[in-house]
Amino acid sequence: MGLTPTRITTDIEYDRPGRQLGYLRLIHSDNRHAFSTIPIPIAVIANGAGPTILLTAGNHGDEYEGQALLHRLARTLDPKRVRGRLIVLPALNYPAVLAAARVSPLDDGNLNRAFPGDADGSPTAAIAHYAETVLLAMSQGAVDIHSGGSATVYAPSVYLHCGGGADLLRRKLAGARAFGAPYTVCAKATSDSRSMSAACDRLGVPMISTELAGGGTIDPAALEIGRAGLTRLLVHFGVMDGEAPAGHMHSTRLVSPLGAQSSVMSPTDGIFEPLHEVGAEVRKGTLAGYVHPLGELDRPSLAAEFAHDGIVLVKRVPALVRRGDYLYRLACEIDEKSLFA
Ligand code: CA
Repeated sequence: MGLTPTRITTDIEYDRPGRQLGYLRLIHSDNRHAFSTIPIPIAVIANGAGPTILLTAGNHGDEYEGQALLHRLARTLDPKRVRGRLIVLPALNYPAVLAAARVSPLDDGNLNRAFPGDADGSPTAAIAHYAETVLLAMSQGAVDIHSGGSATVYAPSVYLHCGGGADLLRRKLAGARAFGAPYTVCAKATSDSRSMSAACDRLGVPMISTELAGGGTIDPAALEIGRAGLTRLLVHFGVMDGEAPAGHMHSTRLVSPLGAQSSVMSPTDGIFEPLHEVGAEVRKGTLAGYVHPLGELDRPSLAAEFAHDGIVLVKRVPALVRRGDYLYRLACEIDEKSLFA
């Protein structure tokens, strides 16, 4: 980490009550930005005593459900419903959002692999540094809303990074149950230390992440699951007053992603014809789909099978595939006790 506290500036006054809509000004000097800064949109909605909760989307730029949810929340949430402070960034890696891309076109930076970041580093590193040392440092809870991106669609899920110790994990699980998505994916504590989840574990901030559909578009059903779940979670965190909505509430199923060996890989180059949607329950040997080798008319289509029993958690979106590309990823249901063993 550099010696500079941060080079990002803002007109937002974090201690001011009411709604403020503004920008974080990211400095980046290249041919396009020689005489400008990059304005990352930010809202702060504060009212009286209570926790500070950070809400982010657009960590990956091509994941849209969260961007839509937070853009609307920033403008429409009545500050009188807030107890404490919400800090809302619907497009956290704004250069990636503008490019409709997972990573930033300025530096190829994957924000979720850039923590703890560097104030003196590339644009993506500077955003990660600000998020960890300024925004998360003043937060008592965080929600980072992801989706499958352009390449994949997820079964609507809360996604938990199971690091940070048993007490933090219990608080994250309580948040996941309040959110009430159909699935809660529990990822091992050995996940990447450069993620925002890992940053939250370092700071002791309970963070709830999500994977809401995806596919480079907005899934209306997943959006409603996200909207109701986020409201319930904010009531659970104590930062929002009033009734938690009862709709789109699931008794969430805890699942664990099965390893790479249970992912279905394309057996050849061609066009993928899927036979299942996310959420399907499949068995070892179930036919997953076909890959049609379009360049060779005399060659039959190849079948791909699931190699394990499980729930379809992730499905590939683009039909054109190369040998080895993942077509599906499975998860299996787990017991909460196994997370604390
Ligand atoms: Ca993502």
